[in-house]
Amino acid sequence: MALYFKLRSDCFLVGGENDAVVYDAPRGRIFLLDEGAYKILLSCEHNKPLGDWLGDSGMHLLNTLQDLGLGLFDPDAAYVDKLLVHQPIDWKGMGLVAPKFLKVDWAITNQCNLNCAFCGKFDRTISWQGCQTCLRRDRDTQSQWSPDCPEDFMGQIADLGIQTLHIRGADPALAWDYLLRVLQAARQTLLDVTITTPGVGQDIDALLTLCSEGQVRLNIVMFGIDDGTVSATCGEPNILAHQLALVDALSDRHLPFFLTFMLTHTTNLQRDKILAFVQDRWQCVPSFAEVYFKESIDRGFRLTHTDNNMKPLTRWRSLEEFFFRIRNNNCLFGNFEVSSDGNLRSCAGISRVLGDIANDGLPTALSGNALYDMWGRCKEGMQPCNRCALRYACIDCSVFELEGENDENIKEAYCPHDPSRGAVRAYRKNWAPADFAMTLKLGEEDTGR
Ligand code: SF4
Ligand code: SF4
Ligand code: SF4
Repeated sequence: MALYFKLRSDCFLVGGENDAVVYDAPRGRIFLLDEGAYKILLSCEHNKPLGDWLGDSGMHLLNTLQDLGLGLFDPDAAYVDKLLVHQPIDWKGMGLVAPKFLKVDWAITNQCNLNCAFCGKFDRTISWQGCQTCLRRDRDTQSQWSPDCPEDFMGQIADLGIQTLHIRGADPALAWDYLLRVLQAARQTLLDVTITTPGVGQDIDALLTLCSEGQVRLNIVMFGIDDGTVSATCGEPNILAHQLALVDALSDRHLPFFLTFMLTHTTNLQRDKILAFVQDRWQCVPSFAEVYFKESIDRGFRLTHTDNNMKPLTRWRSLEEFFFRIRNNNCLFGNFEVSSDGNLRSCAGISRVLGDIANDGLPTALSGNALYDMWGRCKEGMQPCNRCALRYACIDCSVFELEGENDENIKEAYCPHDPSRGAVRAYRKNWAPADFAMTLKLGEEDTGR
């Protein structure tokens, strides 16, 4: 009697140019396959009856898969419905749904008292997680734009059903009266408000009053934890003492705050030291953003998260998120930026202009397709990630993909893995987290390196 083996309907075999991975969607884990294991599973998925062609190691592999809950033996050829593929209406774009707005980044000013060498030089730099920082697009005060009536503009934002308003700059505290009007209007809404600021544009007591009612939290952008580094990075003396006093005051009063350290090619080796300092002083974990001159990347600088020359993978938290990742980008979806030059963009890190808010107004700027096309960008459409079997296990800031498309140096700066045929195969590497990315081998040496 014939016998077949099938992966469960919620486990997916995904092939790349050089690698293959089984995605266990409900349990949130992946199994990197060697070439032999991939060939066997592919044949099984094509309903090839089991037989001598499997050998002992092949049968052992299938038994292991069954023990892991990834598949099952069956006396009938099984035409398992994969959860994903039976959505032709969605795939064809025929299901019209209203855009789901989640967050707006609003750069209310491009003014700043500090003088970071990399700031405002979008043509010469590339940033990672720049949306969490005060990095500005330009330093030309003449081109600054903000809506004449922030109260009306806030009403339009609230009408979109947005949950989070992120006010950024440069330094929003330098547009103090305007900022207070925006916050007053926000009080009439349920918006969560974050203000990203280097924290030096106002005195500390004034900044503390912004977050005293619980709706607003400050995200302080810092540059280091010693005077020499901070002065050299932001071009001004005595900044660190002011920032430390501000964060001490927030912490002492139990007011909500975030910290984002902006690393550069001269400070990126201090990441661990900064982490330990923040945990010791304020018992919290800071975020990191990075900005590099493109020539540093060409000289071989790599982002700090590529520890041990490996890019960390990211576990999905639900089935819904797993399917979401296949077609969308986590960080871009639902977001837009109101830039201080009056343009609509998807976020602070991506320079592409998607609409003209200053001249056309917010509703018209949002009525085109450009923003929603950006929300739909995912690794399926990006080189070389669309050739990588890990593409649904790997999410990240998209700046390095979108701003550095077709630039090998830039791609390598955020992920050293090469998915091309003939490169070192993914299953031979130690991916993190280890309990998320595991290996299944046939046990025979494959022909790859
Ligand atoms: S503190 Fe922020 S806004 Fe000011 S110069 Fe530095 S990066 Fe730019
Ligand atoms: S960044 Fe691209 S090439 Fe690197 S692991 Fe992720 S999907 Fe693969
Ligand atoms: S691509 Fe995502 S993480 Fe990167 S700057 Fe834009 S929104 Fe932020």
